Formats: sequence, structure tokens, C-alpha cells
Amino acid sequence: MARDADGFPVTRTPAGVVRSARGARSLGDLDARVSGCRACPRLVAWREEVARVKRAAFRAQDYWGRPVPGLGPADARIAVVGLAPAAHGGNRTGRVFTGDRSGDWIFAALWRAGLANQPTSVSVDDGLELTGVRVVAAVRCAPPANAPTPEERDTCSPWLARELELLPRLRVAVVLGAFGWTALWPVLAAAGHPLPRPRPAFGHGVEVELTGPRGPLTVLGSYHVSQQNTFTGKLTEAMLDAVLARAVALTGGAARPPGVPDGGTPDDGVARAAAP
Ligand code: SF4
Repeated sequence: MARDADGFPVTRTPAGVVRSARGARSLGDLDARVSGCRACPRLVAWREEVARVKRAAFRAQDYWGRPVPGLGPADARIAVVGLAPAAHGGNRTGRVFTGDRSGDWIFAALWRAGLANQPTSVSVDDGLELTGVRVVAAVRCAPPANAPTPEERDTCSPWLARELELLPRLRVAVVLGAFGWTALWPVLAAAGHPLPRPRPAFGHGVEVELTGPRGPLTVLGSYHVSQQNTFTGKLTEAMLDAVLARAVALTGGAARPPGVPDGGTPDDGVARAAAP
């Protein structure tokens, strides 16, 4: 496999993504393969243009300007699935959700849930460590206007599929937003999970229990941690805490964010759909 100037294996086509993802033997191997991907011409052009022009506040920094791999240990029992890296967040720092307002929200919430060692995430060398959770994006390259196309989503999905396969203890997928929700179902179907019909509609607090070849998997919906949602109050800290507390409880963990009664249902008023 050809490698680029930084030593990452290069993938240039959707078929190449399928082959390369299948060939990844570990999360580290997968991360390297993701980092060398160039299969979506529009996104490659955008991420590299952003990295070249930069935002004034970050002019002195070297942007990553590549696909952004996931973050978290291989024994994670929870996966958090977001949309795509931000142009001046993950596309700048090289770490998922790191260096932008959305990251401020999700990592602070993971810290409150006992899944991160610190509440902030500003750069790859800031000391952040996750426990029991892997954070990933459905699409690995920063898209213009935060809007990947369906074709780009599908091209990128083998990376997500392989990443979930490489988490042998995975028990819960927390999906941030409708885009990730839509992206995840075909991946789960391909992994052997019988899916409910009709497919459950996305909503905050929606919970879907699946069976599968490796045991049960629960999919939890949460509004995305975008500024559009957090600034307007559509998503509050208590709402996000409640979803993560539910995820932790499903994995048998004891972490309990503020506002959640001991041993009880999160006191957040979130409607939970019945599992199909
Ligand atoms: S979005 Fe995914 S498939 Fe497309 S270039 Fe980026 S990493 Fe590759």
C-alpha cells in the first residue's frame, strides 16, 4: 500500500476504503489508514484549503488538515458517534471534537460521567484520556458548512464499521444528531444486528435495544452538541448528562452525573421510546 509523505497508507477510492478498512488489524492501524484517506475529492479539497488558509486566531498553528481518527481505548463499552470534524476544531488539532465549542460540551459531559480524566480538550498533547468510551465521527473529514453529502457518508462508513468491530466489548452507541443516526443503521445491519422495522426515528433520549452476534447493543439518541443546539438551549447539560448516565448504567458502570437520582431514571423529563 502506498504511503504519503507522513507515512500514512493512502486510500483514494470508495472501493479502496472498503479494502483498507477491512485490513485494519487494530485501532492504531485503523487510525493510520483513516489519516491517509483521500477518497472524497470535495472533502479533501476543503480540509486542505482550510488548513492552508487558517483562521486568523490560529495562524501560528500547523493544521492537521487530514481525516480525524477516533479517540478512546479498545476496551471501550460505549461509542459516541458524532457527525464530522469541525474545520477549525478537529481539522486543526487532529483529534476528534478537540479545539471547538462542541468538544467543550462533549468532553465536559464525559468527564462528569466519569469517562474522561479532565473536562477540557484543547490539543493532542493536553493530557486528555478517556476510559470506557471511544469517540468517533461518522464522516472523518471536515465538510463545508458541516454538511457531508449522503455519498460522502456512505464512502466513509467502512471506517466506522471497522472501528466498531475493533471494540470487542462495545455495548452502547450514543449517537449525537440525526446525521450520525442515519449513518449508523446500515453499519449495524452489515455487522449482523437485525434492525427494527420501521427504522426508529431519531430523537433525544430515544433508546433502541438490538441483538447481535456479539450480544446486545443499545443505541441511544442525543441531540448533537453543536452550538446551534447548545446556544439555544435545545440541548442542555442535564439532557446530555442523562443520556451518558444511561449509557454508563447499561454498561454496568456506577458513574452518575449530577441531577440523576441514585439507581433511578434520569430526572430530566426526556421521553424514551419503547424498544421495538
Ligand atoms: S470523509 Fe472518510 S472516506 Fe471521505 S476522504 Fe475523508 S476519511 Fe476518506
